[in-house]
Amino acid sequence: MCYFHVSCVLQVYPPEYEGHFQSLMITQKEIRDRIKVLAALIHDDYGNERPVMVCVLKGANPFYQNLLEALQDLKHGYTMEFLKASSYEGNASTGTVRVESVNFEALEGKHVILVEDIVDTGTTLAHVIPLLKEKCNPKSLEVCTLLEKRLDTPPLVQAKFKGFSIPNHFIVGYGLDYNELYRDVRDIWVISQTGIDFNPSALYS
Ligand code: 5GP
Ligand code: MG
Repeated sequence: MCYFHVSCVLQVYPPEYEGHFQSLMITQKEIRDRIKVLAALIHDDYGNERPVMVCVLKGANPFYQNLLEALQDLKHGYTMEFLKASSYEGNASTGTVRVESVNFEALEGKHVILVEDIVDTGTTLAHVIPLLKEKCNPKSLEVCTLLEKRLDTPPLVQAKFKGFSIPNHFIVGYGLDYNELYRDVRDIWVISQTGIDFNPSALYS
C-alpha cells in the first residue's frame, strides 16, 4: 500500500486505462467551477420555486450530484427524480430511444429540470421531453446539460443551461462511458483508438 511516499506516482485514472485516451478535454476543476455558475443561474431563475431535478441516467449522475451540492451551497431547495434514457450503442447514436423508470406522478404540475450529461444530436431529449409533457403536464420543463457538441446541424433540442460547448469527438469520463467503462474517471477525455478497440471483458478474466 502506497500513501504519500515520494516514489508514488499520482495517477488521475485507474492504471488499466493507460493508452485509452487521446487527449484531456475538461478537468475536474474546470467542471466544478462551471457547475457553480450553472447552480447560480438556476438559483436566480427559479427564485423561491423548488424544481424537481431529474437525473438522466446513467451518464449524468456525477454531474447531477455535483450540481445538487452546488444548489445546497446556495440553500436552494429541490426534489430528486431519476429516469433512464439511452440512444447510444458503442460510440454511435442509434436514433431509437429507450426511456425507463420514470415516476411521472412526481413531476405532475411541477417545475422540472432535466439534468443531462451531453446533448449530441438531441435525439434523446427530443424523445424524452414530449413524453414528459404528455404524461405529467409539468408547470415548466427545462434542460441543464453539462456538455453540448458542436455539430454541423444544431441539436434537435436547445438546453436552457449549458456547461460547455465541445467539438465533435467521442468523449469519456465523469460519468460518460464507452461500453460501460470510464465512468470512474474524474476528468473528461477524448477516447483513443486503443480505448475504442479495448475489450472490457479483459478486465474481468
Ligand atoms: P443524443 O441523443 O443527443 O444524440 O445523445 C445523447 C446521449 O448519447 C447522451 O446522453 C450520452 O449518453 C450519449 N453520448 C452522446 N455523445 C457522447 C459522447 O461523446 N460520449 C459518450 N460517452 N456518450 C455520448
Ligand atoms: Mg445522457
